[in-house]
Amino acid sequence: MNLKILLLPGDGIGTEVTAAAVEVLKAVGKKFGHTLDLSEGLLGGVAIHKTGTPFPKETEELCQKADATLMGAVGLPEFDAAPPSQRPEAGLLGMRRVLDVFANLRPVRTWPALVDSSPLKNHVVEGTDMIIVRELTGGLYYGQPRGIDNDRAFNTMSYTRKEVERVTHTAFKLAGNRRKKVTSVDKSNVLEVSQFWRKVVIEVAKQYPNIQLEHMLVDNAAMQMVLNPRQFDVMLTENTFGDILSDVGGILAGSIGMLPSASLGEKKGLYEPVHGSAPDIAGQNKANPLGAIGSVAAMLEYTFGLMKEANAVNNAIGKVLESGRVTADLRPKGKPATTQEVGKAVSEAL
Ligand code: NAD
Repeated sequence: MNLKILLLPGDGIGTEVTAAAVEVLKAVGKKFGHTLDLSEGLLGGVAIHKTGTPFPKETEELCQKADATLMGAVGLPEFDAAPPSQRPEAGLLGMRRVLDVFANLRPVRTWPALVDSSPLKNHVVEGTDMIIVRELTGGLYYGQPRGIDNDRAFNTMSYTRKEVERVTHTAFKLAGNRRKKVTSVDKSNVLEVSQFWRKVVIEVAKQYPNIQLEHMLVDNAAMQMVLNPRQFDVMLTENTFGDILSDVGGILAGSIGMLPSASLGEKKGLYEPVHGSAPDIAGQNKANPLGAIGSVAAMLEYTFGLMKEANAVNNAIGKVLESGRVTADLRPKGKPATTQEVGKAVSEAL
């Protein structure tokens, strides 16, 4: 198979983890006989520096041409005071909108070798295996009107029926191949948008009679994720809540650097680790690349339907974790491995 993939390394550790992920991708191509058609584009702070905009037109065109996009991370501290539309993160939001990737899948699992890395007690995290399905192109991050006046600032949280329906279908279909349970997270005791969300989710759920549906308020969900994470199979939620709750997932997985993600629409797929550009460790070859490498596995599965290859990458990640050759964030007993060493170790384990 020919895999036509766009690489957008972005800023900070984004470039480092993407390089490690590409090494694994090449190893997959070699082992399973696939050809790689890789292109590279600019996104985020690096794109502002070189072109004046976080999401250049050329990058938009490259995204449309590729079957899938693998992104690192965006964000540079020098833009912290810039208005949202001129920050590197605007590039990411623009790309998600252009590709119309409305469902963001964030698998959270506790790898047996990492149970001791979690700050939570072993008996709490052991066996955690859930997927957060976060709505990605609606809600507060995109709602209009938005703005800042002298004495007031405002954003708008809004969802259409179609937006809620399509992401709900994604969550229920996923649950059908898993443990057949969807937990829809909202704040329906306070927000009209959440009341509407809950109503539409209940309507869609009627089409999936063999899937159990439960509802949970977002504040309780945050608590339940650290109290009893094994209760969750598929967690369905809107954009902002999903953004926040998936960082809690980082605690369950041992480090935020472990978390992969897949953003899916009707046609295209965008794959990226959950973490940001981590300016505090950028350029030091210290970043954990396993979230980016897990995103390669997700790409093989969801865009290319290559299950055997995806499983091989995930198994290789498991082997490397067991070997203890891991980066500093996973608190290894001996000397921490570098980003490059972990990438190489996963490629070899394949
Ligand atoms: P962050 O995820 O970059 O970092 C949070 C903490 O986790 C830091 O201490 C960092 O060192 C650590 N960390 C993150 N990824 C790691 C990895 N792979 N290995 C080891 N440690 C890791 O979040 P932040 O500090 O809040 O944000 C930094 C910048 O990234 C900001 O500009 C923010 O807007 C941006 N950001 C981008 C994305 C994205 O590109 N998808 C996501 C989140 C934040």
